[in-house]
Amino acid sequence: TAAAYAQDLPAVTMDDPTAQALKYNPDATAADRAAAARPGLPPEEQFCSNCNFAQDYAEEGWLACTLFPGKKVKSEGWCTSWTLKQG
Ligand code: SF4
Repeated sequence: TAAAYAQDLPAVTMDDPTAQALKYNPDATAADRAAAARPGLPPEEQFCSNCNFAQDYAEEGWLACTLFPGKKVKSEGWCTSWTLKQG
């Protein structure tokens, strides 16, 4: 799942319907990670950059996410679907 995307994808914004459903925030420190209590790592260590749904993306600071096809998310973002990266 380390596909590198060459095209310039649009960034997920907080008014995106999926972002709202998943409480995505490009700044994980401003998201309520403690309330979500996702297993795998302490809340303060959870970011898109160590999420299993994130994929490499050819732009520093950004990742592709399988939950947001055709868009990019911030490496330091977070949402309620956060799941510890495997392998
Ligand atoms: S699923 Fe993972 S990579 Fe995608 S937005 Fe949520 S925390 Fe970030």
